[in-house]
Amino acid sequence: MKMHAAGGPGLTQKRNIVTEIPGPKSKELMARRNNAVSTGVSSTLPIYVQAAGDGVILDVDGNTFIDLGAGIAVVNVGNSAPHVVSEVQDQVTAFTHTCFMIAPYEGYVEVCEELNALTPGKFAKKSALFNSGAEAVENAVKIARVFTKRDAIVVFEHGYHGRTNMTMAMTAKSMPYKHGFGPFAGEVYRVPVAYPFRDSRSGAEVAAAAILKIEKEVGADNVAAIVIEPIQGEGGFIAPTIGFLTAIRDFAKQKGIVFVADEIQTGFCRTGQWFASEHENLEPDLITTAKGIAGGLPLAGVTGRAEIMDSVHPSGLGGTYGGNPVACAAAIGAIRTMKEMDLNARALKIEKLMVDRLKKMQSKFNVIGEIRGRGAMIAIEMIKPGSLEPNSEITTTVAKGCHSEGVLVLTAGTYGNVIRFLPPLTMNDELISEGLDVVEAQFAKALKA
Ligand SMILES: *Cc1c(COP(=O)(O)O)cnc(C)c1O
Repeated sequence: MKMHAAGGPGLTQKRNIVTEIPGPKSKELMARRNNAVSTGVSSTLPIYVQAAGDGVILDVDGNTFIDLGAGIAVVNVGNSAPHVVSEVQDQVTAFTHTCFMIAPYEGYVEVCEELNALTPGKFAKKSALFNSGAEAVENAVKIARVFTKRDAIVVFEHGYHGRTNMTMAMTAKSMPYKHGFGPFAGEVYRVPVAYPFRDSRSGAEVAAAAILKIEKEVGADNVAAIVIEPIQGEGGFIAPTIGFLTAIRDFAKQKGIVFVADEIQTGFCRTGQWFASEHENLEPDLITTAKGIAGGLPLAGVTGRAEIMDSVHPSGLGGTYGGNPVACAAAIGAIRTMKEMDLNARALKIEKLMVDRLKKMQSKFNVIGEIRGRGAMIAIEMIKPGSLEPNSEITTTVAKGCHSEGVLVLTAGTYGNVIRFLPPLTMNDELISEGLDVVEAQFAKALKA
């Protein structure tokens, strides 16, 4: 039996690098991995994890990293959060799987009740549960097509919706997500998004251009769904210029198109609200969720207007594992944590802390073109000084430098020139500040070199 170190909030919240990175035990695991794991799967860090909790990740050599990624906005409540652990332990002792389509259980129903209550919109809602974000997006498409009896799906430049065949078609970026993996699913159409840093037009103006393209190239009457992230995640935390999302939503409403908000990365207190759609009162017809929903266990949902969700024929939705009881128990524990700790308020405090610090950095380093995002979803976009030309070189250098100094940062962006910060919402101020100290030092080092 393997020994497990205790993680969760009990783990010492301090950056501490005691070996070279990677250390000897991580190197051993890396050698085993190289023999056993497909090289098609990569990892950001070269270290192997022993335990994690709140703001830190402890590796097998005793190094402690500051975690500014939260497993890509998943452990919003921290790793091994106490309510998640206790709900999961109770559930795993009672039963691990019956299949909701065969023998149903309360946890699935409770998660759907929570989703219906927490998502924006006062109308009657229903939900269905799945395993991954991509699977939720696939199902939102299926539901919208049945409801509208139309085929076309409209998505946006810089958008990311997953790696399955349908969602690869919906994702914008070729390398690494789509390259060589085609042909992709048909009837997917991509239109412009209002990217404030790179487009000075108003949100309404860009929306008008996108709408014209939909009307002329697709035909509004052929469109089943418009699917958009209220803040684009992998695209580089692009919050469309104010007015863009509402104009697209209004157009969808006028034309009987299902407006789908992909809140897989933005959901569950990440932006200082339960869902980022609340910022502009979007009230989407359907919302897809995953990532932050269950404190790290695989779970995803589609939630929306009852008449749309119920338009599917009986047995039309499902899957063997969708809404697995252990994952549902984790979601119940995670959602309780978010409410008890008021993690929306915490995300807004993190925003203030990070933006103040990053603004000071921007005034020192002219490669930082923009600081943007909302709540604990903040990014910096790097440019060649005095231009808008993407600077992916400095981005990679700074990110790698942070990793070897014990700070996990993630990159993003169509041009690979964005560093994004997604700390667990339970991380303390001191660790966030220290993480940003290291980022700043790495910029200074890279620009002097
Ligand atoms: C991560 C992500 C997905 C895909 O989720 P998986 O669980 O990786 O399939 C879809 N949409 C958005 C916005 C995401 O951030």
